[in-house]
Formats: sequence, structure tokens, C-alpha cells
Amino acid sequence: MTAFTWEGIQSRVIFGARSIEQIPTELERLRARRVMLVSTPGRTALADRAGGIAGNLVVARFDRAVVHVPEDVAAAARSAATTASADCVLAIGGGSAIGVAKAVALTSGLPIVAVPTTYSGSEMTPVWGVTSHGIKQTGRDARVQPRVVVYDPLLTMDLPANVAAMSGMNAMAHCVEALYAPDCNPLTSLAAAEGIRVLGDALPGVARSPAELAPRENALMGAWFAGTALGAVQMGLHHKLCHTLGGSLDLPHAETHAVMLPYTAAFNRDAAARAMRIAANSLRADDAPAALMTLASRVGAPRSLQEIGMREGDIDLTADLAFERKYPNPRPVTRADLRALLAAAFMGDKSYVVAAPSTAGSG
Ligand code: NAD
Repeated sequence: MTAFTWEGIQSRVIFGARSIEQIPTELERLRARRVMLVSTPGRTALADRAGGIAGNLVVARFDRAVVHVPEDVAAAARSAATTASADCVLAIGGGSAIGVAKAVALTSGLPIVAVPTTYSGSEMTPVWGVTSHGIKQTGRDARVQPRVVVYDPLLTMDLPANVAAMSGMNAMAHCVEALYAPDCNPLTSLAAAEGIRVLGDALPGVARSPAELAPRENALMGAWFAGTALGAVQMGLHHKLCHTLGGSLDLPHAETHAVMLPYTAAFNRDAAARAMRIAANSLRADDAPAALMTLASRVGAPRSLQEIGMREGDIDLTADLAFERKYPNPRPVTRADLRALLAAAFMGDKSYVVAAPSTAGSG
């Protein structure tokens, strides 16, 4: 028996090379007159370009967006929007810029036009996140769902190949968890399966030939599939662990996803057998966790949490924090399971992924 609830896709999506030029038309459709442009500090040239295209509709710029939206940054962006009497937020860049735009929209209700230049998928979701005292609080709110999303693959050409590949593994993680989400439906599963296929084909090309448009365009398309699935369903163990690692230990967001994905997929291998079969088919492989590990290695992902800055002493702390959080997951998770999984990912222990420890650490 199949049963589901589907609210439809809330964002207007414009995809294609040079679609950035459509920003004025989109702002006009929203009747925006006073736009605040949001970016991260390193993306000044990109923000200048978007600002130039939007012209004198831009009345304020906030270029201090940072990953995981620290509370003080959210407060500063909200205050800048109020001071400027902004009636729209134009976010250009990765999930960090879009995250800050969402923090503004959450309290003001201002519409967001998002121009994503990574594959984080945040642009397609009603999910916001703000970090305070090392804990990232997240929630869903229709006000933060970008009203318009402009995907211009030409804007991603500057994204360093390694950053692009890690971001692509982040998108891959959305797709894998969407396949076993308790609230998945036939459409989100199609998007997730196609996202895995497109990303699995494109990411090695992005890593190998960074100057070629086609793999970048396909990876961005994969990000759209991934974001669409992410926005519609609940994420499980993998995302909760990555949020804990990022929010509490400040580990790099996309790299953390790239390291963790084969491990969390292995943990859920038996409990989410159908999802893993679909993922494996999309990757043209027999076993999804092993294929994800191979893909991560082909695109140059770090192999372990240790390699991206975690200390061994943080394993227990992370297991404790992640155990306190509630999330849906196809396989029940004990604290001992979390510790075993984190210890394996910390070491880069391939045998955890390959040997499918369906009972390891349980009890
Ligand atoms: P990011 O936005 O920090 O970007 C990663 C890096 O890429 C940065 O150094 C950035 O300057 C650089 N970059 C971006 N575009 C570039 C370009 N065109 N050329 C060169 N460099 C470029 O990181 P991210 O991985 O995109 O996003 C991570 C954040 O998004 C995290 O806070 C995460 O929690 C959040 N996120 C939220 C959701 C959601 O649904 N709310 C979904 C996914 C991620």
C-alpha cells in the first residue's frame, strides 16, 4: 500500500547558462523595489556582478555570510535589512549566503531570490538553521523557501574542483537519505534516484576536467534534484550526524558529508534495502555504500574525519550529542552504534563500509 502527502514545489526555478541575466525580470515579477544582496566575504566579484545586473534596485549589501549562520551574523543581517527597508533578499553564492538570507526571511517574511553557486541544495528547501553556543538549531518554515531560484551553471565555473566535488557529495547525501525518508513519495524518490545518477556521472568529470561546462551543468542539475528531494522529506541519521559534527566541532560542511556518507549508508544498508538497491542502480553498482566510497575517493574526498580536523577525544562527545537528537532513521540507533560508526569514520576504516556491520555496536 502506498500513501503520501505532497505539497508541491514552492519555488520558481530558472535553469540555464546566462540565466543570471533574468534577475531583473524576476525582481520585477516579485514587485521588489528595495533589494538586499547577500553573499559570503570571498565572493565579492560574484556579488558585484549580481548587483550590477539588478542595478539600482539594490539598496543594501550584506557580505558577511558564514557557514552555519552564527546567531550574531543572523542578527546583523536582519538589522541591515530593517535599516535599508528591504523588501526582498537576493542571495548569491553557496549554502552559507542562502542560509543568511533565510535567517532574514524567517523573522521578516521577505521573499528570497536565490542564485546558488554550489550544490548544497539549500535554495530548494524551507529549512533554516542558526547556530548559537555551538549548537545548530534547524526548523522548517514556508517563509524561508526561496520564491525564485536562478541556476546558472556558468557561475559555478570558478568553484574550485575540489570544493565542487565535495559539494556534490553533499547533494548526493540528500538524495540517499531522501530514498529512505519516512515521508518520501514516488516523485521525491524519482528526483533522488535521478539525482544520484546525474551526480554520480558528473562529479568525476568536474574533478577531472574543471574547465568543462557540461559536467558542471549536469552537477548543478543533480543539485536541483537533490535540493528538491531534500526540501520535501525528512533527513535521517546521516544529516543529523553531519550537523552535529559541523555545528559542534566546526568541521567543514561538505567534506564532512563526503566522509560520512559511505558509513551512514553502510549502517542503514540492511534496514533500507530497497533504497540502497535504487541508489546502487543509479550508480550502476551492486552495493550502494561501497559505490559511494569509491565515488568519494575518485573525486578526491578526504577519507576520514581525522583528516578534516576531528580529534579522537571528540568521538564520545559527538556520539552523546547526536544520541540526544531525535530524527527518523530506517534502523534504530543506539549510542553504541553512533560511537562505532563515528570511530570507523574517524579512522577511515573501509571494512565498516564494505563488511556491512548490521549488528556492530548494537545493544
Ligand atoms: P559555502 O556557501 O560556505 O560555500 C563553500 C565555498 O565555496 C565557500 O568558500 C564559498 O566562498 C565558495 N564558493 C561558492 N561559490 C563559489 C564560486 N562560484 N566560485 C568560487 N568559490 C565559490 O558552503 P556550502 O557547502 O554551499 O553550504 C554550506 C551551508 O549550507 C551550511 O551552513 C549548511 O548547513 C547549509 N545548508 C543548508 C541546507 C538547507 O536546506 N537549509 C541544505 C544544505 C546546506
